[in-house]
Amino acid sequence: MEFETKAIHFAQEPDKETGAVVPPIHLSTTFKQDGVGKTRGGFEYSRTDNPTRRILEKNVAALEGGKYGLAFSSGSAATATIQLMLNSGDHVICGDDVYGGTFRFFDKVMKNFSLKYSFVDTQDLSKLEGEIRNETRMIWLETPTNPLLKVSDIEAISRIAKENDLLLVVDNTFASPYLQNPLALGADIVVHSTTKYIGGHSDVVGGIVVLNDKKLYDKLQFLQNAAGAVPSPFDCWLVLRGIKTLALRAERHSSNAKEVVNFLNKKKNEGLVEKIYYPFLGEKSSLAKKQMKKGGGMVSFEIKGGADEAKGFLKHLKYFHLAESLGGVESLAEYPPEMTHGSYTEEERLERGIRPNLIRLSVGIENAKDLIDDLKNAFELTFGK
Ligand SMILES: *Cc1c(COP(=O)(O)O)cnc(C)c1O
Repeated sequence: MEFETKAIHFAQEPDKETGAVVPPIHLSTTFKQDGVGKTRGGFEYSRTDNPTRRILEKNVAALEGGKYGLAFSSGSAATATIQLMLNSGDHVICGDDVYGGTFRFFDKVMKNFSLKYSFVDTQDLSKLEGEIRNETRMIWLETPTNPLLKVSDIEAISRIAKENDLLLVVDNTFASPYLQNPLALGADIVVHSTTKYIGGHSDVVGGIVVLNDKKLYDKLQFLQNAAGAVPSPFDCWLVLRGIKTLALRAERHSSNAKEVVNFLNKKKNEGLVEKIYYPFLGEKSSLAKKQMKKGGGMVSFEIKGGADEAKGFLKHLKYFHLAESLGGVESLAEYPPEMTHGSYTEEERLERGIRPNLIRLSVGIENAKDLIDDLKNAFELTFGK
């Protein structure tokens, strides 16, 4: 089965009893047993396992080319539950440009439990290797990253992880399973915020983990049930509904983003844009093209000037809503220094290359011409040309 077919059919047989083409949403929290311990299909209690959730877990696992999936109530809950696999004293090497909430959880919460984290630019393999210690257990990788769309070499890092007996976790949210499959490149665990491209419609918060190793799966499933941050059956169904069009959306997000990048390049030549960040642009583009099918829908750029110009520009946009989050059908624009990355100090932001004139776009699936016109208009209103 190819990706698009899996998205629609995998684990989603028509209902046996009624023929309903869309599998029903199973709201029941408990399941009748035909004798003590005799369940019908292994369901006992919905925190532990639920039929709608099971469909989602199987489906996304198939899309990532993995054996097992585990769904969570948010991407953050998935991240947190993976950290519960570690013991106090363990050390994790984490990308220095990861999702702000991931950094916050590692740096402000897990550190209180005597876990240690090093934040490094994972694009630099020798720097990454230099951080490995006796206590290191895990590498936490995000590629492409937020908001600078840095690209790290998953295959090379997975070799380093294997040589040193470390778990490699890849947050694949920005790429989506359509554009990039880290397990095939050697990762042990893939995590997604399904709130973004997988759900795709900005109407459900969720997370998912996909992996191949049975022992790791058993451990994580135990923790999924023990910590209990599971999604509701309705939320699982919403994510499944989003998934059906993931391939179409990812293609359109990518082609629209490419047009936006071309437009921003023109503005760069006119001196109104200082720098453009896109996975398929610049020095890391050949690596990105090797491990990603398309460039994706995320584009960041530094506008001429500073915070005033950036904020002014954002105010003039009509179709790009000024909002956090990403990956939905509607185009969004945001100001990382005060929105998604507002919890960093200014020094931390500058260290990470997040400058005051940075704007991040989540390019939606509207008509590209309308989106370009919107940007063009905002440049005119900001700079008078
Ligand atoms: C949004 C996001 C998360 C967190 O997911 P939530 O569903 O918001 O908890 C993690 N990683 C990345 C890359 C994200 O964009």
